[in-house]
Amino acid sequence: MRWFTADLHVHTDLSPCAKSMSPDQVVRAAESAGVDVIAICDHNSAANVAAVQAAAAQVVVLPGLEVNTREEVHLVCLFDHLEGALALQEMVYRELPGENDEGIFGPQWLYNEAGDRIGLERKFLAGSCRLSMQAVIALVNRLGGLVIAPHPMRTYGGIIGVLGFIPKDLQLGAIEAPPSGWPHHSPLGEIPGVIASDAHRTEEIGPHMAFYMERVGLEEMKYAWRGLEGRRTHPKFLMVKEALGR
Ligand SMILES: [Zn+2]
Ligand SMILES: [Zn+2]
Repeated sequence: MRWFTADLHVHTDLSPCAKSMSPDQVVRAAESAGVDVIAICDHNSAANVAAVQAAAAQVVVLPGLEVNTREEVHLVCLFDHLEGALALQEMVYRELPGENDEGIFGPQWLYNEAGDRIGLERKFLAGSCRLSMQAVIALVNRLGGLVIAPHPMRTYGGIIGVLGFIPKDLQLGAIEAPPSGWPHHSPLGEIPGVIASDAHRTEEIGPHMAFYMERVGLEEMKYAWRGLEGRRTHPKFLMVKEALGR
């Protein structure tokens, strides 16, 4: 086993709000920042994941997408294999209305595995799809993936910022720690925490947390969050419960 540094929330130029995030730029930035694992999660799409994986030399690229649900809550959905991410993308695309207006939201660049820009995604990726949080989580769990609630306190797309609370029955895999720390009044329960960049610029990508594990994979990461079988994370046991001092 060894330590793997990770940044589990990174966008590419497919996200209209990202800039200078070609697959090559993302991979070079991650590798020069000393990141072993990145998760690529563009808004409502996994269409550039294969291109980032093809550009990667040392860094391991986990496939994902950041789904914007019917409630306008963002959910980072990660997978071990590209097939899972693309299967979710297909279901999200079916429930994602509208066309992107580049003038307002910015371009959504698609890349091939050679690293070339091959065109613009027409779908309105910044929009919300018709799937509920529960539906997305059920789909991801069925596909063997993991759901992380990103930037929870943000009023745009953050689960607590939007809803005011985390529904008890929600099967979240983990939650991103807000930069300002956990709110002391929130009964969040025992959900593992993640520190990730949500990078829309290369300089934001970094080794924000680390996993001590056998190999890169979602099951290994789940063990690390729980401190099981020698696996662990740094910051150590970033559990919401512990952060709340209970
Ligand atoms: Zn987001
Ligand atoms: Zn994001």
